[in-house]
Formats: sequence, C-alpha cells, structure tokens
Amino acid sequence: MDRQIVRETAGRVLRSDEMAASERENAAEFLRQNPALGNPHMVRCGWCHVMTMLFRDEDTGLFTRTLHGWRCTACNEHAASQVVRF
Ligand SMILES: [Zn+2]
Repeated sequence: MDRQIVRETAGRVLRSDEMAASERENAAEFLRQNPALGNPHMVRCGWCHVMTMLFRDEDTGLFTRTLHGWRCTACNEHAASQVVRF
C-alpha cells in the first residue's frame, strides 16, 4: 500500500466504481497508520477543467499549493478541491 494506490482507490470511490470492500478498507487503514498524510483531495480547475488527486503536501506541475488549497498553474486561478474519505 502506498500513496499511489490510495489515490487510485480514492478516484474509484469518487466515480462510484465497484470495488471489493477490502480495497476501501486497506486504503482507510493506510491513512490511519499515516495520520500526517491526511485524506486525498480531488483537485479541479473550474476554468480549464484539469483535475488530479493530491495529498495536502503535494504539488504537481498542474497545481501549486496555497495556504488553503491549490492554484491552477496554467490559469492562475484557485482550484476547487474535494476531500475523499473512505
Ligand atoms: Zn486551469
């Protein structure tokens, strides 16, 4: 179990994909064991509609962290983010 698997599981939760209960539980357990990580967020720019799943301490080329969320790098606009819980 690692961040990438948690990100993928979170994406499936948001899309309401079918999955085994154990997959969800494994992701939840990983987060309980790594409380500093927090929950993953689906981050989406309302202007260009790019989206990605990020933990709170992560930046990508697409989004830059701010004090209260992320900013879309291309549009320089605050991005919407939705926390994913398992
Ligand atoms: Zn954008």
